[in-house]
Amino acid sequence: MSLFTDTPVRTATEYIQLGEAHSAANYAPLPVVIATARGSWVTDVAGNRYLDCLSAYSAVNFGHGNERIVDAARDQLGRVTLTSRAFHHDQFGPFCAELTALVGKQLVLPMNTGAEAVETGIKVARKWGYRVKGVPAGRANMVVAANNFHGRTTTVISFSDDPDARADFGPYTPGFRAVPFGDAAALAAAINGDTVAVLLEPVQGEAGVILPPPGYLARVRELCTRHNVLFIADEVQSGLARTGRTLACEHYGVVPDMYLLGKALGGGVVPVSAVLADADVLGVLRPGQHGSTFGGNPLACAVGRAVVGMLATGEYQERARVLGEQLRAGLESLVGHGVTAVRSLGLWAGIDVDPGLGTGRAVCERLLAHGVLAKDTHGQTLRLAPPLVIEPAELDGAVEALRRSLKDLASS
Ligand SMILES: *Cc1c(COP(=O)(O)O)cnc(C)c1O
Repeated sequence: MSLFTDTPVRTATEYIQLGEAHSAANYAPLPVVIATARGSWVTDVAGNRYLDCLSAYSAVNFGHGNERIVDAARDQLGRVTLTSRAFHHDQFGPFCAELTALVGKQLVLPMNTGAEAVETGIKVARKWGYRVKGVPAGRANMVVAANNFHGRTTTVISFSDDPDARADFGPYTPGFRAVPFGDAAALAAAINGDTVAVLLEPVQGEAGVILPPPGYLARVRELCTRHNVLFIADEVQSGLARTGRTLACEHYGVVPDMYLLGKALGGGVVPVSAVLADADVLGVLRPGQHGSTFGGNPLACAVGRAVVGMLATGEYQERARVLGEQLRAGLESLVGHGVTAVRSLGLWAGIDVDPGLGTGRAVCERLLAHGVLAKDTHGQTLRLAPPLVIEPAELDGAVEALRRSLKDLASS
């Protein structure tokens, strides 16, 4: 096989070997090589079709190749794609106006990846703490939850408790205190006069779609208000219709001081993330204090505007809610049949696999054989997050494939 061939037709095994020989091994992908995708389906290099039940961790909420998003991107590709923020461009203002209106905050700071949105939120909260709250220089702390996932940068992994994410990457950024997710008393005890923010995923995604206990987020809101602490909701994965609402926080009747968005905001086309807050918070930044070459670029803004426009109708939120009920009913029928517990909100589910049967990874491998792509997390948990454009019959097909996969493992 020549590397520089005119006819780059290779087998799946050849593509996998080429990647493994020439890339860092920081992922362990399932053995499928995707060549094309449309809606809820992907096709591999041999022409096999699979139902995508991961949606790139919710970055493809609106389906692969979504016409409205791709049209917006194509149109912008022919105009201008990158200017840097040294100049204005005609997509920036409209994107910021439309996104802030959707989310209900006064200001937005656009970035690219989710981890950058988290980093931005941390910087803004610290600066707010020193300049507005009056925390003594260098003393700001933030309270975070155990089992969090907020990205992969050195500061973000400093407050992770996942040994894989953390070990060997120190020294760690100080100024974070972790408390158990769902324990309001522990959170209250961790807040002191130097606390500038509480940073939480309203629903912990990578931890296995862990829902907050009843009343927890409302209590967090109360504590933050009482102690003059910013409540930062990392909705990078939970936000933008996945759970049946524009923002997962809406399910719990709370409005945080700052939202972090990402993933689906880029429509599955380009990385787009954003930090949203009111002027008393985001207004602390002056020119030169934060930035990004690509953040808020014309292509990202054009794609983001298409996404915001689609969310403004409420159609996708409603779809996630209705299909989510169907998914939950299907998954609950598996409890006791290889599944020990199911947690879900909208079209987003964490499924605990009976350890006697096998690991989450083993189930994913069987699902692949039955034509469904999904991802395990933390050993025994399977996570499902199909595109919100999935059809009801396809969703039933995914549950059926899971039932068969569990049966395969039980009889092997
Ligand atoms: C994925 C994710 C991030 C990080 O996003 P990247 O784009 O991978 O940097 C941050 N927070 C949450 C909750 C996420 O799910």
